[in-house]
Amino acid sequence: MKFIENSNEGYHLYNRFSADFSDDTVRLNNRNYPLGAVSKMAANISKSEMDEILKLGGKALNCYQTISVLGYNRNVFLIHKDVILDMLSYMKKLEIFQCFDYEESKSLIDDLLSEESLDQYEDFLSTEKPLTEERVIELKKIKKRYAYAIELGLIYAYIGIDTANFATAVQNFTVMFMEKASRQKSELAKTAFELFNDELFMFFLEQSNPAVKSMWGFSVKSMNTVVPVIDEVNGEYKILRRVYFSRMMDFFVMDFFEALSHGHYLWQCGICGKYFLMTTAHRQLYCEEKNPQYDVPCKYVDKHPEITNGKKESQKKSDTPIRILWKKRDNTIRQRKSRHKYSDAEFEAAKEYIMDCYEQAQTNFDYAAEQYEKDMELTAIDEYVRRITDV
Ligand SMILES: [Zn+2]
Repeated sequence: MKFIENSNEGYHLYNRFSADFSDDTVRLNNRNYPLGAVSKMAANISKSEMDEILKLGGKALNCYQTISVLGYNRNVFLIHKDVILDMLSYMKKLEIFQCFDYEESKSLIDDLLSEESLDQYEDFLSTEKPLTEERVIELKKIKKRYAYAIELGLIYAYIGIDTANFATAVQNFTVMFMEKASRQKSELAKTAFELFNDELFMFFLEQSNPAVKSMWGFSVKSMNTVVPVIDEVNGEYKILRRVYFSRMMDFFVMDFFEALSHGHYLWQCGICGKYFLMTTAHRQLYCEEKNPQYDVPCKYVDKHPEITNGKKESQKKSDTPIRILWKKRDNTIRQRKSRHKYSDAEFEAAKEYIMDCYEQAQTNFDYAAEQYEKDMELTAIDEYVRRITDV
């Protein structure tokens, strides 16, 4: 790791990787994802997939513990290798782990636990006094690789535990946030504050960790290294923020909180039940993924109730503060028209103006927080109407 790096550098393994953060995206293994996309993938891991990944991680942890207690044994090391490779090949099937370099991760395991490496470890363990300086250096390198080979079990066990704990945390957060009236950035931050400061919830998360006694569960404390990165694409230069991670949880937490700070959040689709990523405060209730039952996206199913034989009710707009204000102004301008305070043209201009403000407030967090109310003041509406109709 240098003080400053180029965008083509970095690590992409499961156990050690870098992620480049820039604006509202994160680049992992040379692919860009919107902030929160990885959190969405975690939330969508099914119960059976999660059970399997926890089971495989538990086996890796057992191997690690056996080796820690009993010391080196060739057969145990070979089982250790099989267990980790089994877990790796299962991980390959899950969308979330496709964000990392599977081939590179696999070749690292193959190399650290190869027959040749085991010969070297045995050589190192049976050498009492190295004679030459050259041999001392060689044995030091082997010792380092030996320690790393043992640690692999713990690393993969943590990948399983971290993914499960994080998914539980994100799902709980989403349930809590979906009950809120607003989808603004400040509401996201407030919900995060409420949930992650809730001792009972944190206790529940800790208890849901199947290896609670020997491992750290969910934590928002992280130990990361940040380096500036220079990215150059077709002569255009950009500075990114590269963060090195050695634990999956640290990355998950960072992706999630960076997403929230950019107004990205998850929502659970009311039709298929999957979580989808929202990057605006727009009140979308259904996802845009193709629904396997109806062969069209859930959003389309909602707009065409005939697809489901009319059983499903269409999305209702609930009364958010933004909508309440719009309704109030809409009433006022209608009264003005009926009392002949507004001509038809003035009424149309006012109606269009407040609808524009309302729509903008639903999709633009900063506008909603700072400008919407001002633009919706009656004097502002009048001024707009005068400007438009005076021409
Ligand atoms: Zn859906």
